[in-house]
Amino acid sequence: MQNLLDFDADALIAWFAERGEKPFRARQILHWIHRFGETDFDAMTDVAKSLRAQLKETACIVPPVPIRDSVSGDGTRKWLMDVGNGNAVETVFIPETKRGTLCVSSQAGCALDCAFCSTGKQGFNRNLSAAEIIGQLWLANRLLGATADGERIISNVVMMGMGEPLANFDNVVSALKLMLDDHAYGLSRRRVTVSTSGIVPAIDRLRDECPVALAVSLHAPNDELRNRLVPINQKYPLKDLLSACRRYLDRAPRDFVTFEYIMLEGVNDRDEHLRQLIDIAHKVPCKYNLIPFNPFPNSGFRRSSAPTVRRFAQLLNEAGIVTTTRKTRGDDVDAACGQLAGQVKDRTRRTQAHVMTITKEKAQ
Ligand code: SAH
Ligand code: SF4
Repeated sequence: MQNLLDFDADALIAWFAERGEKPFRARQILHWIHRFGETDFDAMTDVAKSLRAQLKETACIVPPVPIRDSVSGDGTRKWLMDVGNGNAVETVFIPETKRGTLCVSSQAGCALDCAFCSTGKQGFNRNLSAAEIIGQLWLANRLLGATADGERIISNVVMMGMGEPLANFDNVVSALKLMLDDHAYGLSRRRVTVSTSGIVPAIDRLRDECPVALAVSLHAPNDELRNRLVPINQKYPLKDLLSACRRYLDRAPRDFVTFEYIMLEGVNDRDEHLRQLIDIAHKVPCKYNLIPFNPFPNSGFRRSSAPTVRRFAQLLNEAGIVTTTRKTRGDDVDAACGQLAGQVKDRTRRTQAHVMTITKEKAQ
């Protein structure tokens, strides 16, 4: 059985064409699945009965299954989604006054092993399918009570959950295309963000195939330190990463890249780092997003003090670089930075508590 959640518009049109069906039929089905949240072909009343019968034989619409659903006092909502074989990933909805952001996972675990990241410490299990990625948005819409023409509850999507989205390129891009498609979720490119640790060739591919807002996990302003904190830097050093960011901006929906910067006491929060961050901002139009580190057992790092974070934000802003600091949300349901506990059964390594960042950005 083919899960139709795996298809973006082009793939669904191609699949329909193989069965002698016209493109508009595919778009109709896309609309039913993603706009109306329908999983029952019989309910798709404007689709010919014969086609419905054929679809029932060969296809299905199967979203991921939530195995836990928690709501925080501040409205943050967290779902644990079963992705089979004892693995689960998290999806978090963060409501704010003027927007609602869904934080979506792309992999069960992550192979890139950044020093400060508990997802990385869990090891890598597998890529999520396109259905499992877009299925997080499909399901959150349903569970939040979205209607096809009602007010939009989820206005922004950030690929900042578990995993490195650009290491699961094809499935992530299929899901991104559905997020943007008017027959599906119709989000603007500016409101869909991919966060990457810096896989340079994949940043170029994303620019060519599906440019959306880009966030880069910088975390260190020089190669020596970044090689240690974000090991993918050994393969794609800062110079190459910054060039890729500049190339990306030629086609990006926004005219800046967001650099995420986890503040680690005594590691990347000294004055020399501040100066290097200012130099980088002269090379690439960017905004900084400072993230107070959330510790986990045996991480070996401590969070920079609040005055240090404030000082960094203030001095960067004074240097003319827009800088925000993330605020923790949902900590009473373990949905805050460093508190989410996904489940990854790694074949090679033992699991530690999973850390994921669920936050609110706030200008300082
Ligand atoms: N793999 C992608 C996206 C997932 S990580 C990336 O690295 O960009 C999402 C964000 O959570 C990243 O900015 C990451 O640096 C941050 N993060 C990871 N561990 C953290 C921790 N212990 N405390 C705070 N933020 C963390
Ligand atoms: Fe993977 Fe991102 Fe964590 Fe690095 S920070 S290990 S790339 S999820």
